[in-house]
Amino acid sequence: MVNALTPAKTIWSAVQGQLQIGLDEATYETWLAKTEGVLLEERCFVVAVPTAFGVAWLERRLYAEIQDALKRVTGMVLDVQFTVATQGAGNSDIGRVAQQVQGRHMGKESPIHQRPVVNLGNYRSSFNANERYTFDRFVVGAGNEMAYAAASAVGAKPGDMYNPLFIYSSVGLGKTHLIQAIGAACVANGHTVEYAASETFTNEFINAIRAGTTDDFRAHYRSADVLLIDDVQFMVGKEQTQEGFFHTFNELYASGRQVVLTSDRPPSELGMLQERLVSRFSGGLVVDIQSPDLETRIAILEDKAHRQGLRLPHDVCEFIGKRRHRNVRELEGDLNKLSAYSMMSNCSVTLEYAIEVLGDQIGNKTAGSVTPDDILGSVAYCCNLAVSDILSRARTRKVVQARQIVMYLLINELLMSPTDIGRVLAGRNHATVIHGAGKINAAISEDDSLRSLVMKAKEAIFTEIVA
Ligand code: ADP
Ligand code: MG
Repeated sequence: MVNALTPAKTIWSAVQGQLQIGLDEATYETWLAKTEGVLLEERCFVVAVPTAFGVAWLERRLYAEIQDALKRVTGMVLDVQFTVATQGAGNSDIGRVAQQVQGRHMGKESPIHQRPVVNLGNYRSSFNANERYTFDRFVVGAGNEMAYAAASAVGAKPGDMYNPLFIYSSVGLGKTHLIQAIGAACVANGHTVEYAASETFTNEFINAIRAGTTDDFRAHYRSADVLLIDDVQFMVGKEQTQEGFFHTFNELYASGRQVVLTSDRPPSELGMLQERLVSRFSGGLVVDIQSPDLETRIAILEDKAHRQGLRLPHDVCEFIGKRRHRNVRELEGDLNKLSAYSMMSNCSVTLEYAIEVLGDQIGNKTAGSVTPDDILGSVAYCCNLAVSDILSRARTRKVVQARQIVMYLLINELLMSPTDIGRVLAGRNHATVIHGAGKINAAISEDDSLRSLVMKAKEAIFTEIVA
């Protein structure tokens, strides 16, 4: 599917994007929006225009600008030829135009045959479906039902109803889950999907600028049927990225393809984000996700416990559901902690056990900004090791203990699941993590020096001793 667009079409899309920056919207919509790149032949680029009047207008008024934009996109100075597109022009029509153009060039001295190349193959499709983030694992309830309904409509029929779809909420309420579920559904239906967290998008774009491959970059994202951008708020203030995104977005949107965006705030509050980007965002459907109510929180817990094979009595679900959580991620955190502890200690989960394990946490949440890397860094610092030692396969006592402290802290402070911790620790399996964290858990009350080491590491996380 990457090559579904002909190069001329692709090049022209990029040119349209360039032109759009410099022109007012009415001019662009009237004269350029419905044009199409038809053919690139030697030094000539052919553009199909809906009407003869349009051909005349473009030739007289915009020739230089178009030639300029073409040069920026292809790196070559090309003649531009406008031609009236016949209704429903298919390949045969393009072939005819091609012959005409070739005919015109015969007899002229040909320069070195140098074709601008727009390489569509350099980037691979960025979307990998994550089985955790599917529609059937999303528990619907008050607070998220609108977002769910819109997302599943888009997943079933991208480009049809809500375009673009813009989902916003505060952190941990299911935006990434839903946008990934849309991607998974679209892939299952045979569509090509590009997914980028907007930081990835930004980084790739900056790299492309450095490497001089922005054409490839744009072509890559433009080749998708469905474009998913998670956390667009990270693009705020990054002018060039916004620009790159705006072109890509417009082209996909104009050709009826689906764009889905998520953000931690509504489009109107995206601050620096360009006005026109905001108005385009608002042109589709904007939905928010609110915190789930108690009933939904309990339903989410029951569903997740069931999937983990954890027996969770209803009173425990209710107890956890009633604790103060700012979001579903924290709710999941409680469940992961409980499940890890019950595996470590081989206890079944009762209300008493849950209170014992989780009780001390009420009102004492970890700072939301701490990441696994912070913990790795602080443990390495306190143990006089390098982070790479902890991630390595080394089995000296000192390294093993540091690694186990990391496991213990990731469970207790970040409430991560053993599987995710294994991933952070260079691909160790969840049994190793449970065993390691369990060892620290058991030893900490007996061993003073271990306890003070763990305390020191914990303090280091929050006091940012670790640079
Ligand atoms: P966000 O992107 O809004 O910060 P995520 O999509 O990462 O939030 O959600 C945080 C966690 O909560 C994920 O593990 C996700 O699967 C889970 N989650 C959120 N909402 C629901 C829901 N309604 N049903 C099941 N799991 C959910
Ligand atoms: Mg997210």
